[in-house]
Amino acid sequence: MRERLRIVLTYVTWPALFGSCLILTHVGITSGHPFLYFNFAYICLGSSIFAIERLMPFERRWLENDGQMVPDLGHTILSKLAAQLWVVFMLYGFVHVSSKTGGVFWPSQWPMFFQVLMGLVIAEFGLYWAHRSAHEWPFLWRFHAVHHSVVRLWFFNTGRFHFVDAVVSVTLGQILLLMAGAPESVMLWVGMVTPYIGFLTHCNIEMRFGPISYVFNTPGLHRWHHSREKEEGNKNYGENLMIWDQLFGTFFNPIRKPPVNIGIGDYVPQGLWAQIKSPFVWGRVQSKISADAPDAMNRLAIIDR
Ligand SMILES: [Zn+2]
Ligand SMILES: [Zn+2]
Repeated sequence: MRERLRIVLTYVTWPALFGSCLILTHVGITSGHPFLYFNFAYICLGSSIFAIERLMPFERRWLENDGQMVPDLGHTILSKLAAQLWVVFMLYGFVHVSSKTGGVFWPSQWPMFFQVLMGLVIAEFGLYWAHRSAHEWPFLWRFHAVHHSVVRLWFFNTGRFHFVDAVVSVTLGQILLLMAGAPESVMLWVGMVTPYIGFLTHCNIEMRFGPISYVFNTPGLHRWHHSREKEEGNKNYGENLMIWDQLFGTFFNPIRKPPVNIGIGDYVPQGLWAQIKSPFVWGRVQSKISADAPDAMNRLAIIDR
């Protein structure tokens, strides 16, 4: 009986958490208090994940402290701040095309559900290529390596992005939406769904997804993306939806269990400031790997599968 309940919970947790956030977002946007409801939903989601990670962890060793909570928090604050300032600058600085009704080509007569879906697909195209470029273009990888240097996945390191990485990603995601003439309500929806999915993709909860993984980015898919093996890690670039991974052949969802020994081969220092600096002094930092190997964070927790 207990086992059956556990299996049911592994299937319902993701839709229940995501669905509750969507309901709160809908109430917030229709009642004219989008940010109040978004913040409430986001805090509830974070605290629920924190509790469930302890009750039903995907990997128990990922509950142990990796000494990275200060850099995790620092990068989250810095990258959110930089991305938001950049979006405000783009919106009001030089591409003021967003409005209540949307641009002339935007299908504002469609039901909101389909407008949001279209907004997500358009934004995802930019997010997909920003993320894929960050893996395939060595210059951008220097920045994205900060995100992939973690040796455990949990909700707290969801926002661990070098601020340059975050700005590149938000630029490509938002610019396409702005060019398409998406109205404010769609921009709000896309801007709110993205952090919900982000929290969920990084969480350390034992869950099953079935067909959901073919549509949305789930923790199951994202754990493959954090694999040390390039042929597994250079896959599943989607941030919210998997549509572009499906179309461009980077969707990866094998039946076997994703790796728990995650990380990268490159050296990323442990301190926040050193991590912020590392992409700008990449060559010098990499040459330190032999000297600093015992302290190299990505070598701290080599866990046998
Ligand atoms: Zn990545
Ligand atoms: Zn990640």
